Amino acid sequence: SGKLNPDYTFANFIEGKSNSHARAAAQHVVETPGGAYNPLLIYGASGLGKTHLMHAVGNAIVQANPRARIAYLGAEQWMNHFTAAIRHGRTEEFKNLYRSVDALLIDDIHFFAHKERTQEEFFHTFNALIDTRKQIVLTSDRYPKEIDGVDERLKSRFTWGLSVAVEPPDLETRMAILIAKAEGNHVQLPKEVALFVAQRVRSNVRELEGALLRLTASSRLRGEALSVEFARNTLKDLLAAYERMVTIDNIKRTVASYYNIRVGDLNSPRRTRSLARPRQVAMALAKELTQHSLPEIGEAFGKDHTTVLHACRKISALRQDDLKIREDYENLQRQLGA
Ligand code: ADP
Ligand code: MG
Repeated sequence: SGKLNPDYTFANFIEGKSNSHARAAAQHVVETPGGAYNPLLIYGASGLGKTHLMHAVGNAIVQANPRARIAYLGAEQWMNHFTAAIRHGRTEEFKNLYRSVDALLIDDIHFFAHKERTQEEFFHTFNALIDTRKQIVLTSDRYPKEIDGVDERLKSRFTWGLSVAVEPPDLETRMAILIAKAEGNHVQLPKEVALFVAQRVRSNVRELEGALLRLTASSRLRGEALSVEFARNTLKDLLAAYERMVTIDNIKRTVASYYNIRVGDLNSPRRTRSLARPRQVAMALAKELTQHSLPEIGEAFGKDHTTVLHACRKISALRQDDLKIREDYENLQRQLGA
């Protein structure tokens, strides 16, 4: 199984509104492994710290109890290990190994989608560990109920304990992360440069780290000070890509003007057809063209995630049967630069 990364700790995990629930839940698991939060499932888009938190849990458990046996691995590795065990006739060994750990940490369980045999085996491992009060920590790129191709029994078990989301960090958290990471690398990052980058690189922490790395590397290389001007030049292509990025606000504005309604109408609770259709189109476009999850899109429209799911299905069906909708949708995709 994989190694715990000693660099991913609670101490260097910057807390903000977007991740405080997940962090608190992870810390609770360290204090009471196998307790109420079992499994702990951390879900959210890529680059938001799920893997980091998972390793932090593993590292902290080992620190508290050096003899604790922790298995950390990606869902894909777990499957590979399982299929290799089948090939070599060593499934008993495989079973014994994963059913005898004190904590099992499996990263990116959305990978289990449509892998039926692997799911079946994981189901049994899961049950055995829960029965013996061993801790399970899982991560996923979306809420488990939204993963297609996973057996219902397994899906329901994924949410038995506590499921917590990590959200994209807000501006203050993005700044705090940049400043802390710079400090960690002994780099002097002026506040106005941190602000400049944090205002523009909005998607996730991995991209923030990437931007910071580029800045510091090229300032060292060229022997130039880290100024806003320097950041603007060094990150030019990255920032241009961000400006082209489709956002929900952007989609709302484009859809509203296309249908000649007001942006506010897209969030109104009114159910008239003249508003409901554009709203569904906007939700479907948001799902297709942005990285946001169903709950996030729902929130942006003042609806819940099932309404968004329904809208996506409805629009996808209408695009088959209704020429007008198909044409509208394709026009909008084009206007949004997709
Ligand atoms: P995910 O698993 O959600 O895709 P990762 O855990 O791999 O994301 O995080 C991506 C990078 O960002 C890692 O280098 C991680 O250390 C860093 N990171 C994410 N969130 C934070 C945070 N809150 N504080 C410090 N570093 C973070
Ligand atoms: Mg990850």
